[in-house]
Amino acid sequence: MSDEILRRLRRFQTRYFPRLRSQFRHLVEQGQHPTVLFIGCSDSRVLPYLIMDSGPGELFIVRNVGNFVPPYDASQGYHGTAAAVEFAVLNLNVSEIVVCGHSHCGAVRALYTDVPAEARHMAKWLDLGRDAVLPVTLSEEALRRTEQRSVALQLERLMDYPMVRQRVEAGRLFLRGWHYLIEEGKILVLDVESGKFSSFDAGLHQPGDRNDPLAGVDLLQ
Ligand SMILES: [Zn+2]
Repeated sequence: MSDEILRRLRRFQTRYFPRLRSQFRHLVEQGQHPTVLFIGCSDSRVLPYLIMDSGPGELFIVRNVGNFVPPYDASQGYHGTAAAVEFAVLNLNVSEIVVCGHSHCGAVRALYTDVPAEARHMAKWLDLGRDAVLPVTLSEEALRRTEQRSVALQLERLMDYPMVRQRVEAGRLFLRGWHYLIEEGKILVLDVESGKFSSFDAGLHQPGDRNDPLAGVDLLQ
């Protein structure tokens, strides 16, 4: 390990952990009870705990390249993200699932470019975002729109998970689509009525609004 990494580990153990020791002990004794499943991109500039002003035990997080949700299909390969969805819903009984895309997403940009031949898993994985691609010349504006369309696409796919759909329809689980603007520290929220993203207080889906927040809405606008 590099000296820098060792220094960081030491700082955590000596400076930060002591302040959180009792909190972690409580979480070990009582178990974790996060209420939110956060599906985010692996991008190093997206910091779920910071964005959501959260601490230990509050978020169940799965991150992957592009914040994609694979189809509910157990027949192909190893689905880490699908397993995380199942665990969060069935075991942890989360009440919210956030799919958080972000500006300047490398995965979304890669949808418009060639992937190196060696990146076989990447090429396949990117298929999960292809339906969001716009038939336009590549521009920053097109990329932002594609990032947002991809979030909507992943939410639609989440609704194909039986345990998700069942709970959403019963009003016990709420899905949220976010687009995080890295350069502004701002979250845009998908308004399920219009299919558009707007600043975070405008499109929150409140419990009881509708049984199925995605029913009849063409999210890929
Ligand atoms: Zn990304």
